[in-house]
Amino acid sequence: MAGLLAGKNLALEKPSQIETAASATIPLLILFGSQTGTAEKLARQIAKESQRSGYRPQVLEAAQYAKIDWRKESNLLVVTSTYGDGEMPDNAQPFWEWLQTESANALAHMQFSVLALGDTNYEQFCAAGIKIDSRLAQIGAKRLQPLVMCDVDYEAKAQAWTTDALAAFAPGKIASGVVPKPLHSSSEFSKSHPFPAQLLSNRRLNAASSEKETRHFEISLGGSQLAYAAGDALGIYPRNCPKLVDDILLALHFNGEETVKLSEGEMALRPALLQHLDINKPSAEMLRHFAVNHNRWRDLSSLENDAEFKTWLAGRQLIDLLSEPANVKISPAEFVTLLKKLAPRLYSISSSPKAHAGQVHLTINVIRHEAHGRERKGVGSTFLADRAGEAPVPIFVHASPGFRLPADEQAPVIMVGPGTGIAPFRAFLHERRAVNAQGRNWLFFGEQRAATDFYYRDELEAMFSDGHLTKLSTAFSRDQANKIYVQHRMREQAAELWAWLQDGAYFYVCGDAARMAKDVDAALHQVIQTAGGKSADEAKSYVAKLKTEKRYLRDVY
Ligand code: NDP
Repeated sequence: MAGLLAGKNLALEKPSQIETAASATIPLLILFGSQTGTAEKLARQIAKESQRSGYRPQVLEAAQYAKIDWRKESNLLVVTSTYGDGEMPDNAQPFWEWLQTESANALAHMQFSVLALGDTNYEQFCAAGIKIDSRLAQIGAKRLQPLVMCDVDYEAKAQAWTTDALAAFAPGKIASGVVPKPLHSSSEFSKSHPFPAQLLSNRRLNAASSEKETRHFEISLGGSQLAYAAGDALGIYPRNCPKLVDDILLALHFNGEETVKLSEGEMALRPALLQHLDINKPSAEMLRHFAVNHNRWRDLSSLENDAEFKTWLAGRQLIDLLSEPANVKISPAEFVTLLKKLAPRLYSISSSPKAHAGQVHLTINVIRHEAHGRERKGVGSTFLADRAGEAPVPIFVHASPGFRLPADEQAPVIMVGPGTGIAPFRAFLHERRAVNAQGRNWLFFGEQRAATDFYYRDELEAMFSDGHLTKLSTAFSRDQANKIYVQHRMREQAAELWAWLQDGAYFYVCGDAARMAKDVDAALHQVIQTAGGKSADEAKSYVAKLKTEKRYLRDVY
């Protein structure tokens, strides 16, 4: 069995995982921890750039730390994202656990620098990078370049960190006149040069009486040459809600025609707020600016720990802050410097390029709710739902190389995707059908009610009827008095699930990271214990092995 699985594993993992340039002299180890593929892509770009500067880079996911002969290494770059509530990406977790053991003293002689990717909208900003950076220093490794923490618009900071780190590892050895190329090329459509795409279709997947609004979107890739694989995500640059922009202008007594300077160039304030700036969650700088001028929150030093302020802020947004009576003077030019850039949104693609040629489909929960007397709207989801038909939608493909169907078409797959978590599994099922893959497919889907929230019911039932979908296990949480979730269905069918795993099945999870993915993980451990007759420790090792073999893959948010 191990040999068979190792073979499958190799097929998934490109042999180019370790990249070297024989002529270069300075060895450089680049470890990445990546949940959605951004940190991995960056690590590979940094490797290419380091080659141009005379390094011989090796790029490895952090989980492969055991493959490294640490005695032969001296220069280490770590690029890691953080996901969920300050958690390590799945492929950095084993490295992190090992770093805390005595064996990690093998790294004491290393010189290192860490680049942390994160999102300041989360409280545990860049927690994974911070932890790895401080643990490496604690072991005794030498921090050559300070930790750099990047927000969602990471490109410029990542580029600066790369240039500085490469110079720090080999002072004087960098060929003079070598100008590092930008990490992103603008010669094709990409994050830095998005494709203006047409929205072809936008329909609600729920029946009218549902409590949810989940929508199916179809976007044309015509003329873009953009390619994607099942499992990838689509990046979208949304535009802010015009009503919210107008409310903000009104609160600040601006008319919107004032000229402001952004990195994109000079423009009027209104289009700047509509298209380029994040006007939803106030940045820390914005909070400070307004709090310092406000009677209740004037004591800046205690602001971040001020329980009263935090309670007030919960569920509120920039517009609430601006609507508070405060003696705040601010110019349009200064105001825009306190706003973050409007970041693109990433959505798991729900189509297969082989089955839906020239198109990309998305399955998105539209967020609308009321809080503190105002209607609140998810930026990306309501842009797509309400206004994406008005003008082309700027898009780019975000590759997720860590979330792919098995290369072995015979391998069984188990997919757990409640709610919008169905998206990549609809793509997987269409993909497997298009290539006539013979492996068995088992889908666990859950939503609130069968009558109103069974997304893609016709497609899924047709696939089940003709045998393409071997098993379809549904969990409608609100169709009975007690909540039934996908993990309950997993436990009910523990023996069969265990048999599939023993047959080499790949286990995929997509959807809510905060609760569902944790509960499904616990259920998986339990299934292995009860049906597989394993102890708790053995089940933990079994799951760890699934992860190492890339047979337990998650796309969670
Ligand atoms: P959800 O994940 O919200 O719901 C899908 C199904 O999963 C429902 O039947 C739900 O049941 C059920 N569920 C709830 N808790 C668990 C659990 N612990 N384990 C397993 N199943 C569970 O679907 P969406 O795809 O619409 O939402 C995905 C994510 O999008 C959310 O997790 C959240 O991150 C985000 N979201 C944010 C919202 C917001 O207002 N900020 C609103 C909606 C989504 P039930 O609801 O009956 O308990």
